Amino acid sequence: MSITERTAKKQKLVSTASSGTISRPEETEDGTLTHKNDSLIQIPDNEVIDERESRPQVPIPKRTMPPYTLPDPLEHSRTPSHDDVFPYGKRNKTSSVPAVMPAGYSVPFTDDNYEVPVISKSRILDNVHHEQRTLINDNADDFIAILPFGGGQGWSDAYPNAAGAIRAFIDGIDLEDKGSWDLVPARPARARKDFWAAPWALFLTGCSTDLRNFLLYQAVFPLHEPGASFFALPLSDDPNWFWLKLTGDGVSEGKEVKKLEAMAALKRKIWSNKDVLKVVRAYQAKEPQSELAMKATSPQHAVVDLTKSFRIIYNPPDTHRGNNEHRYIILGRPMSQDKSEQAGVKSAVQGIKPFVSRSGRFFNVNKDTSGCIWCKSDLHVSQDCPYPNVGEGWCGPTREELEWLAQKARAWKGPRAEEGPQREVRGTPERPRGRGGRSPNRGRARGYPDQRGRGRGRGQNRGPSRDDWYDAAAATSYWGPQQPSADGSGWD
Ligand SMILES: [Zn+2]
Repeated sequence: MSITERTAKKQKLVSTASSGTISRPEETEDGTLTHKNDSLIQIPDNEVIDERESRPQVPIPKRTMPPYTLPDPLEHSRTPSHDDVFPYGKRNKTSSVPAVMPAGYSVPFTDDNYEVPVISKSRILDNVHHEQRTLINDNADDFIAILPFGGGQGWSDAYPNAAGAIRAFIDGIDLEDKGSWDLVPARPARARKDFWAAPWALFLTGCSTDLRNFLLYQAVFPLHEPGASFFALPLSDDPNWFWLKLTGDGVSEGKEVKKLEAMAALKRKIWSNKDVLKVVRAYQAKEPQSELAMKATSPQHAVVDLTKSFRIIYNPPDTHRGNNEHRYIILGRPMSQDKSEQAGVKSAVQGIKPFVSRSGRFFNVNKDTSGCIWCKSDLHVSQDCPYPNVGEGWCGPTREELEWLAQKARAWKGPRAEEGPQREVRGTPERPRGRGGRSPNRGRARGYPDQRGRGRGRGQNRGPSRDDWYDAAAATSYWGPQQPSADGSGWD
């Protein structure tokens, strides 16, 4: 058989097989070419190509890759990339105004500009019963997360009327078409004894496009009813930017250079970590068109690039949680939009053992995501939450109310284990006793000259005012070393 004939025969083998699924000829132990579809092709035995020596020997070209030199981790940490897509610090009402806006509201709220907390879907669905979680995961666009300020397992015990007040607020939004909406409480997968434990949100479902657009545009709803102030958040699939926290004696408040040294030490560890390298290499192979794979000349280069967007934030001990740890928070652009790929690389990074910076002080990698107990942000501790006392006209919770709730949280014994005094006397009204009538200025609260005093004189049928609660709870303060001063400056 001539070489031309053999070539023709090879081509025949391939072209016959390629009529169905794409597949390649394979080589068996004795060197013959076989094919997945061979059973369908009748080939006389004497025509099987079986001469190894006869195959053309094509030398594999030697590829010379330039050696990759690791950058200086300190320099690498100085100017984090991807400023344009950094998701934090965005404010409400900055997207385009929805085509249809409400004509008014029967329950007033403070209509103003605030920062919107960034909370991923996986955190909103944390500890949500698996039936609910699956449903919401699969139909995320049909739901809005209604995240009460100070939400958590103890929230409904502390504020038995708050869910009804949120419902009444939505009911009172003057929109022609709101759909047949419902506000569904999250059922916990497991009851936990932590007052602040997830699930945190209620879920709004069945609302019209107009209602949905308005709620997500406005996003922050400070309401007067205690416990009812809430954020309206989409259930976004985007993996969040939180990677880990650093704890240990290397973490302390101080100059920028200390943070950069910590970041440099962490990057050095990530760059040389075999597990991280393995995950990133697998990602490059699976996603050769991804930015990470296209730009990098080697897996280690890709790992370095992965950390280019990392940012480090210092958080003091959270006095509202009774926590005395100083922490650095590491945020960075997710490697992948795919949740499991992102979880894989995050888990590898979180597996890094305790390490030291150049000064010899230790850092521990901590994957705990417990952020602010009030708004759930990762970026600040509870006592630095920007929402309480944001200024005149603020309808939402005051510093005193938070103090009351924080004390309650400390004494909480778990779901339904506690009967608060307000539960016995307040009943469960359908809706709060609002100020009546539609607010002429789209709900901007007016006439609250003094937050402390606004609980008084609001009708006899309303149950205890906020002041009554504070009086009952105010014997000792829980703020510890960071106790706010009388003028509230401790919150700044
Ligand atoms: Zn907060």
